[in-house]
Amino acid sequence: MKLLLHTCCAPCSVYCIDELRSENIEPVVYWFNPNIHPYMEYKARRDCLKEYTKSINVEAIFEENYGLDDFCKNVSNKLDTRCQDYCYPVRLEQTAKYAKEHGFDTISTTLLVSPYQKHDIIKELGEVIAKKYGVEFLYRDFRVGFREGQAKAREIGLYMQKYCGCIFSEEIRYYNRNQAMARLPEGFEFLPVKYLVNIKKERGNKEQYLDLLLEADPSKEMINKYLSNGELFVLTYKDEPACVAVVIKIDNHTVELKNIVTRENYRGKGYGTKMIKYLVDNYKTKYKKMVVGTTQNNIPFYVKQGFDKYEKTINNFFIDNYDEEIFDGNMQCVDIYYYSKDLKKNNVVSNV
Ligand code: SF4
Repeated sequence: MKLLLHTCCAPCSVYCIDELRSENIEPVVYWFNPNIHPYMEYKARRDCLKEYTKSINVEAIFEENYGLDDFCKNVSNKLDTRCQDYCYPVRLEQTAKYAKEHGFDTISTTLLVSPYQKHDIIKELGEVIAKKYGVEFLYRDFRVGFREGQAKAREIGLYMQKYCGCIFSEEIRYYNRNQAMARLPEGFEFLPVKYLVNIKKERGNKEQYLDLLLEADPSKEMINKYLSNGELFVLTYKDEPACVAVVIKIDNHTVELKNIVTRENYRGKGYGTKMIKYLVDNYKTKYKKMVVGTTQNNIPFYVKQGFDKYEKTINNFFIDNYDEEIFDGNMQCVDIYYYSKDLKKNNVVSNV
């Protein structure tokens, strides 16, 4: 499938792209939104999407059209039905046209993630317009992930718009907001993020996560040394374990993060960062410092997470303690580097 994904903004794209990638569908993002006013708002949303798509390595096409004149001419006499009569179709039509002309066989849209949009109308329009251009319309009810996507967007610092796009939606948002705020369709309920992503301490059988822990530390013997005394935390996504971590007490002031690993199909979604934030919140009331021992390759990751104080290096650690040679990517692991995080400091944590 060659999918052209009409994309209205970066925050709405987060869940849609993650979800499509989890289905092994690699979308090409297509920006065409002549409905965002004023121009600086248009630019802020477009530029944020440019940065975000670059950061997650997804191909993106930007069709420039601010389109204020046409938009106003076309909606001025049908303000109440402007979304379905002009704003949705004009964007979907251009997406289908571009797809047809450039060898895409399928289109979809991130408009399907918003519970504030007219979801059924978008689905119907998408199917009709795709058919007209001889391409498929990929329908997904992305709304289940709206909250999760927005939370992730906020966490990674994406520009979060305050209104749908056009000047009329801006008026509703700010001018008469108490009476005319956007409402969820009747009967629609969010599935709260907390039910999707959950972190808790494992109080039962810690060995059940051994296979996963071995991905980060390939020696059962080494894991057994810290697992029995360590506290193991599990992050689940829709009840599936996605990331686990083990922490041990070093002394009355210090704990050590001994192992943290995210299951392969959940990598790149920020779960490692989420887990570290959780651990920091969990331990900061009782301890002053969290240390981590890492390979050279992973130092930048931990520094980004606030482990910015170098503690020590143990030379030949991986040679002396493991029966086999250990590789991290192409690099053989030899020395272990210890860094620490001050749990009392309000560290800024970057998303990974
Ligand atoms: S409210 Fe949103 S969807 Fe409707 S016309 Fe304005 S920008 Fe388009």
